[in-house]
Amino acid sequence: KVRVRFAPSPTGPLHIGGVRTALFNYLFAKKQGGDFILRIEDTDQKRYVEGAEGYIVESLNWCGIPFDEGPGKEGNFGPYRQSERKELYRQYADELINKGLAYYAFDTPEELEAHRKDHESKGKTFIYNWHNRLKLKNSLSLSEKEVFLNIESGMPYSIRFKSPQDETLLLNDMIRGEINIDTNILDDKVLFKSDGMPTYHLANIVDDHLMEISHVIRGEEWLPSLALHVLLYKAFGWDAPEFAHLPLILKPTGNGKLSKRDGDKFGFPVFPLEWKDPKNQTVSRGYREDGYFPDATVNFLAFLGWNPGTDQEIFSLNELIQSFEIERVNKSGARFDPEKIKWYNHQYLQQKSSEELANAFNPELLSKGHHADSGKLVKVISLMKERATFVSDFWDLTNFFFERPAEYDPKAAKKQWKEDTPDLMKQLMELIKTIDDFSASNTETVIKQWITDSGLGFGKIMAPLRLSLVGSLKGPHVFDIMEVIGKEETLGRLEKILT
Ligand code: GLU
Repeated sequence: KVRVRFAPSPTGPLHIGGVRTALFNYLFAKKQGGDFILRIEDTDQKRYVEGAEGYIVESLNWCGIPFDEGPGKEGNFGPYRQSERKELYRQYADELINKGLAYYAFDTPEELEAHRKDHESKGKTFIYNWHNRLKLKNSLSLSEKEVFLNIESGMPYSIRFKSPQDETLLLNDMIRGEINIDTNILDDKVLFKSDGMPTYHLANIVDDHLMEISHVIRGEEWLPSLALHVLLYKAFGWDAPEFAHLPLILKPTGNGKLSKRDGDKFGFPVFPLEWKDPKNQTVSRGYREDGYFPDATVNFLAFLGWNPGTDQEIFSLNELIQSFEIERVNKSGARFDPEKIKWYNHQYLQQKSSEELANAFNPELLSKGHHADSGKLVKVISLMKERATFVSDFWDLTNFFFERPAEYDPKAAKKQWKEDTPDLMKQLMELIKTIDDFSASNTETVIKQWITDSGLGFGKIMAPLRLSLVGSLKGPHVFDIMEVIGKEETLGRLEKILT
């Protein structure tokens, strides 16, 4: 059975790249009828941030890609927080020690730092592995008795993986294909820390095994750990899952990885939801609060590193599930284009019903003191939605339907309001008073007929009329505006501009 996991560390808000990782896992699993698991990797207590886990869960729910198993949704493989699985990991570290595949290391952080500096001064980098492990303080270099006494005396130690010497590993990645790794470049990574907690590497492998994860889909930044992870599976005698490393997400400029700071720099959110930092109370913008629709956001994220191989760009979540193929994910980085997600939002807004948009817009309208009846509001929205990207665009686009213009665009007035205009507008008002059927199509017929009959020219009437109703020369079809605001208000606005 296909079982995939999204395994974030709750060290802060979920970056939009993390959401992309979750989404690709979700699509991959759902296409094959598999399970999508959320596992919280919180073994690093120092980096734990209050509220981050809740934020992750809320983000996935907002995107419409809920997990099947995870914290609060117990399945048969829980608990799903590593901090609640603490007791489990030690035995696995011990197992590798007993097999001779891992060892105790007693080097203090200060000693390691000194080695690092020493190497640096000679222009070398210090790697803790077969090059020098026998010269350092560990159970490979010390006698059994020394090791025993060290441990007995309570000397802090960590457990390191003994990476093999002179081997070439053949690794496989579903996106990148085969990768050769020379084991001599690997360091002996710490599996178990002196504070009694496993490292990411150990906990991750143990949990993926115990949770029967079939495919590991994660960011490219974990590719350098792949060799160690494959070696760990081998050391335990377990079958390794298949791996796929997703391409980096690049800055809008294309150079370098998109970072959390780019949001402020380029003026767009890098988080799905707004995040208030519990420490310094700073607020980071989120796609949800900025007015992006979850389905538009998801559609955009799916195209960050993947494409269907056709021209189709708009995909519902179900279509994404049907079309998604991990083999079609690119190896090279995907440039993050904030204009593109706006484009998606615009497209998705067009697909929403005017009723739905009216409901979303109504609170803002009420806050401006307007109680529009729903029929009118829906009409206004359907006239204007083509021009909107966000629901928050509607007030600017539609305010003249609800309020008389407070002022008139001086440039337009200068150009369109001529000496004879007041008189013509008075004549027009007389005509309008006689119209009973105020539908756009009828007022259009009657007024256009009048213009033609009086030989006036359309611009002379239509431009000042628009200016009277809107306050500027923008807006939809004048007759549509008249139909929405009604006869009395149309006359009122003409009256106002004339006085
Ligand atoms: N906890 C790791 C992270 O924060 C998970 C990496 C993985 O998926 O193996 O990204």
